[in-house]
Amino acid sequence: MTPALFVSHGAPSVALENDAYTRALAAFGSRTPRPAAVVVVSAHWEAPGPLRVNAASRPEPIYDFSGFPQALYKLDYPAPGSPEIAAEIVDRLAAAGFPAVHEIARGWDHGVWVPLRLIFPEATLPVVELSLPVPRTPEQLLAIGRSLAPLRERDLLIVGSGGIVHNLSRLRWHEKEAPVDEWARAFDDWVMNRVSERDVEALAAYRSRAPHADQAVPTSEHFDPLFVVLGAAPGARVRTVYEGIDYGNLSMRTFALET
Ligand code: ZN
Repeated sequence: MTPALFVSHGAPSVALENDAYTRALAAFGSRTPRPAAVVVVSAHWEAPGPLRVNAASRPEPIYDFSGFPQALYKLDYPAPGSPEIAAEIVDRLAAAGFPAVHEIARGWDHGVWVPLRLIFPEATLPVVELSLPVPRTPEQLLAIGRSLAPLRERDLLIVGSGGIVHNLSRLRWHEKEAPVDEWARAFDDWVMNRVSERDVEALAAYRSRAPHADQAVPTSEHFDPLFVVLGAAPGARVRTVYEGIDYGNLSMRTFALET
């Protein structure tokens, strides 16, 4: 069955880099059996009201960041969308108790196109993005993931795009190789150990149970895609794609859940 993937997308500038992280994502893309399509839940699309599913046939990339090199604003990701898969996802979500609507005006935020450009550079696989609800709980996100799980049997790759430790106010932006902060390492390790043990209950209670959760996850949008991935791949084993912490505390941990 097609794995599910949690990808830490880091800073948008990874799209211009060639390092151990970008090479690990490329290696994952080239060795994974080619999926039929990719479904992404990104930290960068939060929407109140019904869930939104991108149903455009060719969404444009959104350059939803500022202060980065000009070259980044010229990058493209010309993969197709899939109105058909979007319609199926809307139906599955509705059947699971999550009203959902088609979105055709919005393109793909950088949580979608930056990592997918590294994993599948040929940009030929259809991609469908799903929004994060506002408000939301880990339990709701797990249920959303469970409603998408059958898509894995049809070779759809479900991707959560965010970050395990993501606190922009603490980053040392000018020192990518900065010594890793102990609090960031402790939280990142705790999460990975719970994921490996499939201790979803502890993960859902991370705010009170994980060390340094408030520093590591000051707002939950980068962490929350993890719960969709966990719901989509219950009982799967973990395969680390990449682990590392840049800029002192930005976790780039990326892993697949395989059955
Ligand atoms: Zn982000």
